[in-house]
Amino acid sequence: MDKSNRATVLAGNWKMNKTASEASELIKELIPAIEGANCDVVICVPYTSLDVAARLCKGTNISVGAQNCHYEESGAFTGEVSVTMLIESGVTHVIVGHSERRQYFGETDITVNLRARKAVSKGLIAIICVGELLEEREAGITEDVLSRQVKAALSDMTQEDMEHVIIAYEPVWAIGTGKTATSQQAGEACRFIRGIVEELFNADVAKSLTIQYGGSMNPSNAEELLAQEHVDGGLIGGASLKASDFKSLVDAASK
Ligand code: PEP
Repeated sequence: MDKSNRATVLAGNWKMNKTASEASELIKELIPAIEGANCDVVICVPYTSLDVAARLCKGTNISVGAQNCHYEESGAFTGEVSVTMLIESGVTHVIVGHSERRQYFGETDITVNLRARKAVSKGLIAIICVGELLEEREAGITEDVLSRQVKAALSDMTQEDMEHVIIAYEPVWAIGTGKTATSQQAGEACRFIRGIVEELFNADVAKSLTIQYGGSMNPSNAEELLAQEHVDGGLIGGASLKASDFKSLVDAASK
């Protein structure tokens, strides 16, 4: 399958790291380091750094993302942030359904779908995370889990909505553990996800969908993972916090 009809997107997920002043320092290092990138680059920073990130990245090739959003427009949802608030802060992307949110904050397939639909309805790009637990892989049910998560996340989405969707395949056992999926495992899972999307929509939607791999991607394994036919970039945690490492990944994704 030809990769040229879809974008390669390298997105950093900073998680709960970097104060606003630390974010400013890292972004000032990143801007010149990756100005020649031949792929889309996004940094998903904590809410408190959105403002500084949007200001510094304006006019550069770096887009700014958030790590979550709420599905209601406004109201009594203490601690939550709406899509409209994110857009006004200069955000263009938002991670939805990261496994850490599913694991620690009660995120379910249903709320992932609500958040993703709200984000795309307002024009944000939703980076929807799916992935199996180690015990699910060992029990041989990886495809069942991916199928359930992808179908639930994309439920009630239209073909137009899909232009604002990226799926990140992130095997939970590979996130922040230093254990990476083999390039074959990553490639097969991303191919499987593309097949589900084709089943739900059609071949054109499937072909143009960006599917990232995420899970301990680093400068030494990135090239092989990104060379997989169905892997169109990465969602990067740890290695997005150091300008030199992130630059290496951007270089690998730019080939
Ligand atoms: C992530 O948080 O999405 C992630 C992939 O983390 P790491 O690269 O640290 O495994």
